[in-house]
Amino acid sequence: MSSAQKNVVTLDKLVSLCKRRGFVYQSADIYGGLNGVYDFGHLGALLKKNIRALWTDSINQHGSIVMLEGALLGPEPVWEASGHVKNFHDPMIDCLTCKKRFRADDINIEKGCPSCGNKSWTDVRQFNMMFKTQLGASSQSSSQAYLRPETAQSIFINFKNVLTTSRVKIPFGIAQIGKAFRNEITPKQFLFRMREFEQMEVEWFCKGDQTESALQSWKKARMVFYKQLKINQTKLRLRDHGPNELAHYSTACVDVEYEFPFGWKELEGIAHRGNYDLTQHSKHSGKDLSVFDDAKKESYVPHVIECSVGVDRLFLTLLFDAYTEDVVGGEARTVLKFAPAVAPIKAAFLPLTKKQTEQTKAIFDRIKQSTKLDLQLDVSGSIGKRYRRQDEIGTPLCFTYDFDSDDDKKVTVRDRDTTEQKRISIDSIEAYLLEQLGK
Ligand code: ATP
Repeated sequence: MSSAQKNVVTLDKLVSLCKRRGFVYQSADIYGGLNGVYDFGHLGALLKKNIRALWTDSINQHGSIVMLEGALLGPEPVWEASGHVKNFHDPMIDCLTCKKRFRADDINIEKGCPSCGNKSWTDVRQFNMMFKTQLGASSQSSSQAYLRPETAQSIFINFKNVLTTSRVKIPFGIAQIGKAFRNEITPKQFLFRMREFEQMEVEWFCKGDQTESALQSWKKARMVFYKQLKINQTKLRLRDHGPNELAHYSTACVDVEYEFPFGWKELEGIAHRGNYDLTQHSKHSGKDLSVFDDAKKESYVPHVIECSVGVDRLFLTLLFDAYTEDVVGGEARTVLKFAPAVAPIKAAFLPLTKKQTEQTKAIFDRIKQSTKLDLQLDVSGSIGKRYRRQDEIGTPLCFTYDFDSDDDKKVTVRDRDTTEQKRISIDSIEAYLLEQLGK
C-alpha cells in the first residue's frame, strides 16, 4: 500500500521527468535549443491526442458544433481588421546594464533587474507579439503576412462559408484545434508561456440577447470538463476580469484559473466578444457578415462567446495535478495519477522474466488488436523497475505474466494508485481493462 503521499511537485521536477521519459524535448536541443519552443515525444504526442479528443467530445455535448481547420498564415488586412496590428502588444523594457529584455508589467523587475540586479532601464516600449513574414519572392510583388496569434480569426473570416455550407442555424459553434504563434518577450515556465503553441477554441454564435445565458452555460460546461479530467477541484476557480484587464475585443471575460506552484494562473479564457469581430471583418472586407432573422424579418450581426484553452497549458496542468511522490513498501516512487482517459498508455504487459516474453507478447498483440488502445509491452529490466517506470508515465494498469501463468491461465494485474495486485484469468483481461478504463 502507498503511504505518506507528498505534494512536492516543482517545475524543475516536471521538466526533468518530461525529458527523461520522452514527453517533451526542448526544440533544436542539439543546437542549443530554441527558447519557448518545444517538441513532443511519443508519450507527449499521445497525451496531446487524448487532450484534443476529450475536449472535442466535451464541446460536442453543448449543441450544434462544426469543426474548422484554418490556415496558420493570414494576410495583413485580417490582422488590421481584428485589431491585432494595433493592439496586440506587450510593454517591453531593457536593462541598460546587462541589456536583458523583460515585460514591463512583470512584478519581478520591481526590485531591480532579475539578471544583474541594477535598476537602470530604457523607457517602456510597446512590442507587437505577432510573427511577421513576407509571402512571395520579390520585394515588389511580395505581401506582408502574419502567423496567427490565435485560432479565432480564421473562424470569423470563414463564418459565412460555414453558415452557407454546414446546414447550421444560430445558435451554433465553430470549433478549431490548431497552432498559434506569439513572440512572447519572455517565454517561461516551460509549457506555460511558449512562442509556438496549440489552442482549442470554440466560438459560439448567438443573438445579442442570448449572450448572457450562453456565457453562463459555457462557464458551467467548461468546469464540468475539468471535473471529468479529474483535476483537483480545490485548485480550480473562475475569476472575472476587471475592466482594466479586458482585451481590446472583449466586453466581459472570465478565466478558468489553476493553482500552479507559481501561483493562480489562467488555464482557459471564456470571453464575451460581442459582435466586434464580425463587424470589423465586415467593415474591412466589404462583405456582409450579417444573418437574416426570419421571425423578425431583419438582419443582425451575431454575438460571440469564446472558450479558449491551450493544449500545452492544459498538458502542463494535467502533469502538475497528477504528479505525486509516495513510498511503497519502504521505497520512494514518483507516480503520475492521470485519469485513465488522459493517460498516454492505458496498460502495460510485462513478462516476469524474459522467459515469458513470447506468451506475454501474444496477449499484448491480441488485446491491442481488439481494443485499439495505446498499450505497451515492457520486457527488459527488473519487474520492480518496470513498475516504477509505468508509474512514472501514469499507466493505470500493469498485467504480468509469471511462472504460474502457463498452468493456471491467469496473470497478475497491478493497480497504479494502490499498487494492489490480484490474479485474473487471461480470457478476462480485455473486459477487465475496458471496465477499469470506464469504456
Ligand atoms: P496570458 O494572460 O497567460 O498571456 P492570454 O490572456 O494572452 O494569456 P488568451 O489570448 O486568452 O491568453 O489565449 C487563450 C489560451 O491560450 C490561454 O488561456 C492559454 O491556455 C493559451 N495560451 C495563450 N498564450 C499562450 C502561450 N504563450 N503559451 C501557451 N499557451 C498559451
